Amino acid sequence: MSPNSAPNRRSFLARSAAIAAVPAVATLAGGALAEPASADTLPDYAPIPPSALGPAVNAQGYFVGRVEKNLYWVTDSAYQAAFLTTREGVVLFDAPPSIGHNLQRAIDQIAAENGVSNKVTHLVYSHHHADHIGGSSLFGTDVVRIGQVQARQLLASENDPARPVPDVTFKTKHTLNVGGERVNLAWHGTNHTPDNSYIHFPDHDTLMLVDIFLPRWVPFDSFNLNEDVPGSIAAPDTAMAYPWKHFIGGHMGRLGTRADMVLYQQYVNDIIDGVKKALATVDPTPFFAKYGNNVWAAAQQYLAAVVAYASGPVIKKYLGVLAAADVYTASTTFAILESIRLDLGFGSQVHP
Ligand SMILES: [Zn+2]
Repeated sequence: MSPNSAPNRRSFLARSAAIAAVPAVATLAGGALAEPASADTLPDYAPIPPSALGPAVNAQGYFVGRVEKNLYWVTDSAYQAAFLTTREGVVLFDAPPSIGHNLQRAIDQIAAENGVSNKVTHLVYSHHHADHIGGSSLFGTDVVRIGQVQARQLLASENDPARPVPDVTFKTKHTLNVGGERVNLAWHGTNHTPDNSYIHFPDHDTLMLVDIFLPRWVPFDSFNLNEDVPGSIAAPDTAMAYPWKHFIGGHMGRLGTRADMVLYQQYVNDIIDGVKKALATVDPTPFFAKYGNNVWAAAQQYLAAVVAYASGPVIKKYLGVLAAADVYTASTTFAILESIRLDLGFGSQVHP
């Protein structure tokens, strides 16, 4: 399909708007985007490795495929949802607004092919974020919504009509039985958000855990904007303790494997090692000597030097291996650096 065709352009725009609030922020700050962007002056990045790309989307801008048996996934190449067909209706897992009405189209397509019901009876929330469940209200009021108890609290305070609060909540564990199918929901502590849940399909060899590990891509800006950095670094270990073959990460165009997750863990460990080495190596003295009483200027330049020292070798190692290593490794390194300093106390010095 031509890159200028209408559905592609439309889904691209929806996707960019959903993924990043960055342009709005840059405009407010009077940044580079105060000038209209021009393709000639925008920076170039390394090509995306083919291994990071998934199947092509159809003319309506989505792809739907089987994960295993009656478990399916839907993607627009930037966001993912999943659904389980059962003899009593469909259980949907997340409703990203960027996929929007294509969710029901994908379900209709699979239901028609298999002669099963296309009626969504249950909607499971991975976590409260609008970019993953902002299409929830499209499924009306005659749907049982399920989420972790903190998702209910957060959604109640956020009061967004697009994201009705869950009707059924759980604190640590909940087994969902619908139409002869079972799904295990679990909360193992805070990570990306306080309510982020592990969705395990024991009869389909699949784990869904959103916004932690995005198969074959580096994390989104600043380590996926994770609220709890140590919890998010630990989450893949918890995920690996489950039996699964297929992984649904909520983002980009493909599913993940256990080998993909090991590769991602290595990437994070390489950043952590790089940060510890940089904190022990980069001397802050010249930065504070130069900027005197402008402590923020000294801190900014010193930390930028630490990030460059730590992230440089990681970017080099993962270019061509993880997509967009040159785009977001530095901002993720900054997030991990700050957590290592502030949460772990690494490199803290007590005045003599
Ligand atoms: Zn999120």
